[in-house]
Amino acid sequence: MIIILKAGISRKQESAVLKEIRKRGYRPHVMRGVARTVIGAIGDELTHQSLETLAMMFPQLVESVMPVQKRYKLVSREAHPENSTVKVREHLIGGKKFQVMAGPCSVEGEKPLLKTAEAVKKAGATILRGGAFKPRTSPYEFQGLGERGLKMLAKARKETGLGIITELLSEQHAELVAEYTDIIQIGARNSQNFQLLIAAAKTGKPILLKRGLSMKIEEWLLAGEYILSNENAGLMFCERGIRTFETYTRNTLDLSTIPIIKKESHCPIVIDPSQGAGRADLVKSMCKGAVAMGADALLIEVHPNPAEAWSDGNQQVSLEIFAELMQELRPLILAAGRE
Ligand code: PEP
Ligand code: MN
Repeated sequence: MIIILKAGISRKQESAVLKEIRKRGYRPHVMRGVARTVIGAIGDELTHQSLETLAMMFPQLVESVMPVQKRYKLVSREAHPENSTVKVREHLIGGKKFQVMAGPCSVEGEKPLLKTAEAVKKAGATILRGGAFKPRTSPYEFQGLGERGLKMLAKARKETGLGIITELLSEQHAELVAEYTDIIQIGARNSQNFQLLIAAAKTGKPILLKRGLSMKIEEWLLAGEYILSNENAGLMFCERGIRTFETYTRNTLDLSTIPIIKKESHCPIVIDPSQGAGRADLVKSMCKGAVAMGADALLIEVHPNPAEAWSDGNQQVSLEIFAELMQELRPLILAAGRE
């Protein structure tokens, strides 16, 4: 921490601040400038009382207290200058190959899931998505098939060779979901449920961490820190739109997170255009934007008959539109330097 003292502070007053810094377990390093004095406090905040309250304790003496380092450490690019990749079966996310994860919002049954899996695989997707535990805004809406849904996903993986991604809603299901899935999805509504993040991380499975509905980027990076600091090495961030005043779309997809996450972190960034806009007619354009801006992967909702979907029908694209989209993305993927 850096503690900036107010101008015109005497040595005696300064020593009161230094005493408090030492009392809290830090080693002060004093830098006396012409106008004012700055103190660097060296020590570990994880095991000591924070120094943030010094300005409150000495309102006449301390101007401000600032962190020297970023609050996120393991997710930051400073800690790991190279891009990191996440291995999912034989696929690498964050490497040269652009990856597409696609499938229904919710797993609704074995037959439609298999039909979707075969179609998305044929079009070029490598990972099948599908919610078995669904975080619905209303308790009266379809809540997902639970373990039955997980079994259907596992069966679709066996038949197609696709990897699978599914959401973990509750700590109590961490082991169960990890038993079936290749990637654990942490949904927007849970991205600051820290105990859930820890439980998910400890399964050792790669984690796709969605951005919360009203989450600042720093909060999102710090949520990612909960994953990497709990013995997990496979973290991906996923932008899925945030709450704004706009009602034309369900959420506002913040594509600026692509270069920002790339700058701040070594972890892959995935874009979900489906929750991002809440409208199937916008999915193609937003996927194209995401590829052009350097995203590592897409997470797209695809359904054999969106008008009859059990959840998020308005934003799911049909198998035909998905196949078209994959064709249209090809030249953009190459232009973005990916395969
Ligand atoms: C989903 O992927 O279907 C979902 C519920 O996503 P989010 O958590 O981003 O709303
Ligand atoms: Mn959905």
